[in-house]
Amino acid sequence: MNFNYFMPAKIFFGSGKINTLGEIKLPGKKALIVISSGKSMKRTGYLEKVQNLISSNGSEFYVFDKISPNPTLTSITQGAKAARNNGCDYIIGLGGGSSIDAAKSIAVMANNPGNYWDYISGGTGKGKPVPNDPLPLIAITTTAGTGTEADPWTVVTKERTNEKIGFGYEKTFPTISIVDPDLMTTVPPKLTAFQGFDAFFHAAEGFIANISTEISDMFALKSIELIGRSLSKAVRDGDDIDFRTDVALANTLSGFVESTSSCISQHSLEHALSAFHPELPHGAGLILLSEEYFLHFIDACAEKYIRMAQALGKKNADKPEDFIRELIYLQESCGVRDLKMSDFGIDDENLGKYVDNAFDTMGGLFNFDPVKLTKADALEILKRSYK
Ligand SMILES: [Zn+2]
Repeated sequence: MNFNYFMPAKIFFGSGKINTLGEIKLPGKKALIVISSGKSMKRTGYLEKVQNLISSNGSEFYVFDKISPNPTLTSITQGAKAARNNGCDYIIGLGGGSSIDAAKSIAVMANNPGNYWDYISGGTGKGKPVPNDPLPLIAITTTAGTGTEADPWTVVTKERTNEKIGFGYEKTFPTISIVDPDLMTTVPPKLTAFQGFDAFFHAAEGFIANISTEISDMFALKSIELIGRSLSKAVRDGDDIDFRTDVALANTLSGFVESTSSCISQHSLEHALSAFHPELPHGAGLILLSEEYFLHFIDACAEKYIRMAQALGKKNADKPEDFIRELIYLQESCGVRDLKMSDFGIDDENLGKYVDNAFDTMGGLFNFDPVKLTKADALEILKRSYK
């Protein structure tokens, strides 16, 4: 057995932990607060709460509210400029995965020359090393999905070329993360389900990845257990803080999985779909692919599928098909079994385009699949998943 473990983010987890912002030593004197272009952070009062807490703790701030659900290269460039022009020396990402991912990328570009795509590997990225450290980052997650508060990854889309590519290295972990399930009670049921499934797939993919270890498996199985126990309940009863806490913990543990193992090619294929169809939520795209995707690896991962089925609640699971059945049952109980690719404008004449895009932009994750997935295999998975 061997493993590497590096998880430098200081995480404050639990109901009411948002108030920590008023007590800890902040990593700078003026924050760029990065939020989405929607109204939710203002309507819920979360933005005002953060502003009040850091003000009382001696920090100034400037609000950058131009992040779309799939953060774009343009918004990263604008955000970095806003940080420099306003003299911000640290970044706060407040919201869901998009806002926090954007905050990570802005933290890189606020302190570095050139274009963000100079530092991206894959597609039209130039893959250069980042010369200067990013600004310190506080991640405050108001959803339970991407695990970005506990991993170094950020996903940004270059609009002109339909490239949606992940980036991250040792310095892009948040400095401080606040995971407060109280902030998640305002997430509507459908999004709770999509985001919860994203967390689930980070754990399940990381569990069957060929680089998984005892450490990543421990986080993955606990995350899967918490989602099996509480996701459908959090979808139905979003005000219940115990259900929200279980799903929030599952999400943070899945971030640990992404930091110690890796997502695999289901994420590459999904990024290709949502790069061309930005209205497709990432978690929904994964759900659309998942049954056929996991069926493809059923023989290679038989023993691991049995362990995942057991973690999902089927204690007497003894064959790999039990995991596929539990996955379908979880989708039914969360009300997301009826999703169709055609509902999001995906055209079955062009499925090869998504396969090519997945290999071009996120080809690296295919190296971590439990057995090699060819372009023909990937196309077959998309065809079988198409409705
Ligand atoms: Zn994901």
